[in-house]
Amino acid sequence: MAMVSPATSESKLSQNRRAGAADRQPLDSIPARIVLAMQGVTKSYPNGRVALRGVDLIIPEGDFVFLVGPSGAGKSTVIKLLIRDELPTKGLVLLDGRDLGRLKRRDVPKIRRRIGVVFQDFKLLPNKTVRDNVGFALEVTGTRHRDIVPAVDRVLRVVGLTGQADQLPGQLSGGEQQRTAIARALVHNPRLFIADEPTGNLDPVISWEIIQLLLRINELGVTVLMATHNAEVVTAVRKRVVALENGRIVRDEVGAAYHRED
Ligand code: ADP
Repeated sequence: MAMVSPATSESKLSQNRRAGAADRQPLDSIPARIVLAMQGVTKSYPNGRVALRGVDLIIPEGDFVFLVGPSGAGKSTVIKLLIRDELPTKGLVLLDGRDLGRLKRRDVPKIRRRIGVVFQDFKLLPNKTVRDNVGFALEVTGTRHRDIVPAVDRVLRVVGLTGQADQLPGQLSGGEQQRTAIARALVHNPRLFIADEPTGNLDPVISWEIIQLLLRINELGVTVLMATHNAEVVTAVRKRVVALENGRIVRDEVGAAYHRED
């Protein structure tokens, strides 16, 4: 797993934000080590629905960002643009400086591997063990068997599932299933880890365990973007909060609560 210094990039970002500059800088002058940059992104769906309106968002390496906002605000659309399920109607989406909107079709899988995603409903393969669910993610990209085994063991250790490696998803608790999904998303050493409502199906205690795990993964150097409605968690951990409303970013604050406090 790439080791970076989250403190450095976070402090650089907050300096920029204090100066009110981060969202307005032209792309050729933004600081180095930006994982994600969205500039002037508008997304209209074919039915005419405008999901995002002129969104500017910069996420530096090592950041931990909560993406919040009411249902319909545009959170899923942001994620769909990042995993290139959708293309922006206007504006740029850059991952590690690569313009996702202009990617050649054959480069899409390579870029997708730089992003690890987990969803509310885990999306595990029911007939494969924990180990095989995680290993399968590497198999499909042609990784050699002798490289898969240590990589899978390593991420299962990170998520605390070494003891359950040979169980099927149906034999696991909800929290363990989400840990399996997290291990699978991590096994490619992603540049950006996206969690879309990862605690949506979990009770409060297990939700906390999952959040603690995501914080730990972030401490290991992985940049994390988590879309959530979980106000209690967001307010308790005091990370960067980006709030969307009606397709616009209405708040972008470091160390913030779920709801505006001023
Ligand atoms: P959120 O994840 O915050 O609930 P979404 O990104 O799902 O928000 O939705 C933003 C807006 O875009 C909503 O008005 C929604 O109805 C619309 N929308 C989302 N996906 C589609 C789609 N595939 N086709 C048409 N409209 C869509």
